[in-house]
Amino acid sequence: MLQNMPWSDMYNKSFSIIAGPCSVESYAQMEEVFKALVKYSDVIAIRGGTFKPRTNPNSFQGLKEEGIKILEQLKFIYKKPIVTEIMDSDDIKYFNNVDVIQIGARNMQNFSLLTKVAKLQKPIILKRGFGNTIDELLSSAEYIKKAGNQQIILCERGIRTFENSMRFTLDLSSVVYLKENTDYPVIVDPSHAAGDSKYVIPLARAAKGAGADGLIVEVHPHPEEALSDANQQLTLEEFDLLEESLQSIR
Ligand code: PEP
Ligand code: MN
Repeated sequence: MLQNMPWSDMYNKSFSIIAGPCSVESYAQMEEVFKALVKYSDVIAIRGGTFKPRTNPNSFQGLKEEGIKILEQLKFIYKKPIVTEIMDSDDIKYFNNVDVIQIGARNMQNFSLLTKVAKLQKPIILKRGFGNTIDELLSSAEYIKKAGNQQIILCERGIRTFENSMRFTLDLSSVVYLKENTDYPVIVDPSHAAGDSKYVIPLARAAKGAGADGLIVEVHPHPEEALSDANQQLTLEEFDLLEESLQSIR
C-alpha cells in the first residue's frame, strides 16, 4: 500500500518519526529544526503548521503560503520530506511541493476536503477528531480511498473524555485496534494529547509499546517563544532524549 510513497523506504523501517514545530514561524526557526533533526535516520519527515486551525481567531493563524515556501526551501537544502496541514481546498495550489498532507483533527469529517485532497495522490496523515470514534475515523479514511488514494496514515492524537489531567486522553486502545483490524499505518501524536512537554516522552514510549508505526511530535528550538502550543513542544535536547528513550522499547 505504501509502495508509491516517495519516502516508503524510510517509512517501512520499524518505527518512524515526523518531528518539527507546531507552527512554522520563520526561516531561521525552521533552519534550526532541519539542521538538528536531519541527523536522525528515523526522522522521515519534518512537520510545521502553516495554515493553523486555532480555536481563537485572535491567536496566530500561521504564515500560510509564506510558511510553505520556507518548508520547501529547506526541504531542497536538507533533503527531508515535509508535512503540513491543509484546512481549505482553496489552498491546494500551495501544496505542490508538500510531500505529506495532514488533515487535522478538526477537519477529519470535512468530507469534501478529504475528497479533494485525496485527488492530489499524496500520502495523507488523517488525524482522529477528538470527538470521533475509531469507526468514524475509518469511514473518513474510506472517503480518501474512494477518491482513489490509498496512501493513508492514521493518527491517534487524543480524545476528549471526562478525564482532564492532560490536554486530551491518549487512546492507545485505538492503536491496538487499528493495527489488528486495518492495514493502514498508525502513528501517534503524543504532543497534542499531553499538552505538556513533560508527558510527551512517556506517552511516546507507551505508543511504541502499544504497536504504533511511528510518531508525529512537536519540537521547537525555543518552545518558550513559540507562537502556538508553547507548553507541549520538546526542545531539541529533549528530542534527543526521546530518541534515546525509545531505543529500549521494542
Ligand atoms: C497539529 O498537528 O498542529 C494540530 C493542530 O493537531 P490536531 O489537529 O491533532 O489538533
Ligand atoms: Mn500544535
